[in-house]
Amino acid sequence: MNVFLHHLTKYTGLSQLHSRTLETLQVNLGARCTLECRHCHLAASPRRTEAMSETVMDQILTWLAGSNCQNVDLTGGAPELHPLFHRFVTQLRNLSVNVQVRTNLTIYLEPDMAETATFLRENQVALVGSLPCYLEKNVDAQRGVGSFQSAIQAIRMLNTLGYGLHPQWPLILVYNPGGPHLPPEQNRLEATYRQLLHEQFGLFFTRLITITNMPIGRFKADLRRQGREEEYRTLLEESFNPKTLEGLMCRNQISVRWDGQLFDCDFNLALDKPVEATHSNVAELSATDVIRPIVTGPHCLACTAGAGSSCSGVLV
Ligand code: SF4
Ligand code: SF4
Repeated sequence: MNVFLHHLTKYTGLSQLHSRTLETLQVNLGARCTLECRHCHLAASPRRTEAMSETVMDQILTWLAGSNCQNVDLTGGAPELHPLFHRFVTQLRNLSVNVQVRTNLTIYLEPDMAETATFLRENQVALVGSLPCYLEKNVDAQRGVGSFQSAIQAIRMLNTLGYGLHPQWPLILVYNPGGPHLPPEQNRLEATYRQLLHEQFGLFFTRLITITNMPIGRFKADLRRQGREEEYRTLLEESFNPKTLEGLMCRNQISVRWDGQLFDCDFNLALDKPVEATHSNVAELSATDVIRPIVTGPHCLACTAGAGSSCSGVLV
């Protein structure tokens, strides 16, 4: 029994975590990214070449057309880099599903990306943009020199399009810690972001979500280099909060990798731990696969620490 299941059993008597209804399909379009962040759980970079095929995209569209799932969350890497990104988003919107894109923000400053933001606006696609701090030196340390100023420039451009200012164009910013500690309280941090980004740069955003760093991928390698892996593992374990179990995102979400393989979440995807369902590929996904035992591991303690963590922020 892994340490997460040990805690689950201790507090709930259950020996396994199970999914419920499927509310969100998370689609990972590929591992290529313009950045190479120190905390990236997927170890995305400009050198990664994995990308979803047209066939898998069609399988997703077919499945969505016959399902009640109303939300699609596009991620990567940088999903905007996918050559069929515009076409796929258009097809998803034609199915009347809500679409949101997880963006590194700076991508919209790339020369051939200028029209992508306008395209997303026209299609009323929500944006979830990574800005791990309101301080330049912290963002640059995590994401590369110059990345803070580029993100500020990108948010300014998105604001001119209405993002972060009008309800139909949400701009959600994402904070994650710069080191082996839990995020600060989400609402208080949002107020600080709002004040500083407005005062210093005249920027607007819809809301801020905090995400706890997963001890996997590049963040794990970083912890190991600093000799702080054990310290972080202990922090997550000691911060276990049973109230977060109810809202864990894997209970209402499934992730599709670029090759069609299904995972309980993007973290299990990064660890290459597929779903334990009858079918583990989107081409065969059926209603019975939606309700399944969730594949867990010690990394799940990052979702249950403190106020909890998910792709939508805190859980309690
Ligand atoms: S964390 Fe996001 S922006 Fe940074 S390398 Fe990974 S996918 Fe790219
Ligand atoms: S890491 Fe994934 S499977 Fe584990 S609790 Fe978090 S969302 Fe669920």
